[in-house]
Amino acid sequence: MEIKVLDTTLRDGEQTPAVSLMKNDKLRIASKLDEIGVNYIEAGSAITSEGERDSIKAITSEGLNAEILSFSRPIQKDIDYCIECDVDAVNLVVSTSDLHIKDKLKTTHEKLLEMSNNAIEYCKDHGLIVELSAEDASRTGLDFLEDVFSQGIQTGADRICFCDTVGVLTPSKSYKIFSRLSKLDAPLSVHCHNDFGLAVSNTIAAIEGGAQELHATVNGIGERAGNTSLEEIVTSLYVLFGDEFQTSVKTQELNSISKLVSRLTGVYLSPNKAIVGENAFAHESGIHSDGVIKNAKTYEPITPELVGHKRKFIVGKHVGNKGLNTKLLDLGITVNEEQLKCIFDEVKVLGDRGKTISDVDLQAIAYNVLDIHKEDKIKLVDVNVVSGNKIMPTASVKLNIAGEEKLEASVGIGPVDAAINAVNKALTEFSDIELVEYHVDAITGGTDALIDVIVKLKRGDKIISARGTRPDIINASVESYISGINRLIGE
Ligand code: MN
Repeated sequence: MEIKVLDTTLRDGEQTPAVSLMKNDKLRIASKLDEIGVNYIEAGSAITSEGERDSIKAITSEGLNAEILSFSRPIQKDIDYCIECDVDAVNLVVSTSDLHIKDKLKTTHEKLLEMSNNAIEYCKDHGLIVELSAEDASRTGLDFLEDVFSQGIQTGADRICFCDTVGVLTPSKSYKIFSRLSKLDAPLSVHCHNDFGLAVSNTIAAIEGGAQELHATVNGIGERAGNTSLEEIVTSLYVLFGDEFQTSVKTQELNSISKLVSRLTGVYLSPNKAIVGENAFAHESGIHSDGVIKNAKTYEPITPELVGHKRKFIVGKHVGNKGLNTKLLDLGITVNEEQLKCIFDEVKVLGDRGKTISDVDLQAIAYNVLDIHKEDKIKLVDVNVVSGNKIMPTASVKLNIAGEEKLEASVGIGPVDAAINAVNKALTEFSDIELVEYHVDAITGGTDALIDVIVKLKRGDKIISARGTRPDIINASVESYISGINRLIGE
């Protein structure tokens, strides 16, 4: 059976505290959602603001395949704004619990039913598809809820949706409720929140109970603890239920849309996030790494390729010999048994001190063991920089190149640029080396932080990374740069 997917990243997801998306960002996310095969996209809430309407209009005029919806209360003014935005459908949200009806809306069951039906009629008169959503449905009496839905369907609602607005369903309750409501005469949808970490489980139980549509957001972002996560629910249905419940979402694109949304919203993922977290396919433990290398199925329920992710072997204190050797080979470093043991011992010592070892750290340890640095052709003797707000940053650098000292000076956009330019001037014979990436991190918080610079250098088709860590950004930059060049020319 095909389960339809409504993505509400741009509406419920945007209600994540401190998230506000610009028009172009919303359009990019909507286009990507469409591309990966989501059926319905809730683009926003038209009543919110002029800017929100601009974004929704940009999405509706994009000619996407997906049905585009706007959130709307059962109020004519809200619906008029939806019409103005040219959406295909409205997510007509009617509060149904006593708590909402009495305390929030200060009205009665009868008046609420009337409001809901009038709004549906108005929407249908204006050619809109209506998904009638019952807000706080999980704290609403089922008989009243059934009244709201069945009257709504009679009035013309095309689909109905049960919202667990505060995330209080459990899987067994969800299954029971959906088994009953799915007998009504319209496709039934499920909208879950993750307050108890149960959003995906409750959504699955609802589908087993008869729901034909699910609501989700990319990375599970949304109010409070968020919503059902798109990548988790889509992958669960695909892998754990196979033919029983399918969606049209392309799983291979899930990691890339997750990264896009995380970048544009500034909401970063915890590393252990299912499916798309940094560690979702990372292995550290020796026994696990060894198993995965022999047959990935031993410790991975799905392949990273299925969701567009990558497998990683992390080096830490649990690393085994085989995992470490594979990692070193990945980095282009071949070692003999004795060298491997030395590197292994050093990694264990660092691991016991609580440090995880990055690729660059491991490279440094390995090169030390292999004694590559002894043969460093280029050594930094001295670096001086003058910088200020009125003068062009100027640097002088003294290098020892194979025993001979060379002094050069240069200017630059900033002090780091000036220093690197001076190094380049002293090293014209290696002008085919290209800096492809320069990354700075302040390891601790204050202005006295340790500065960690990582550079990636390229010569021909060979790329290496090198690191410099110093309290001074100029020293850290020059050191990492020279160490990278030594490595490139030394091999
Ligand atoms: Mn919600």
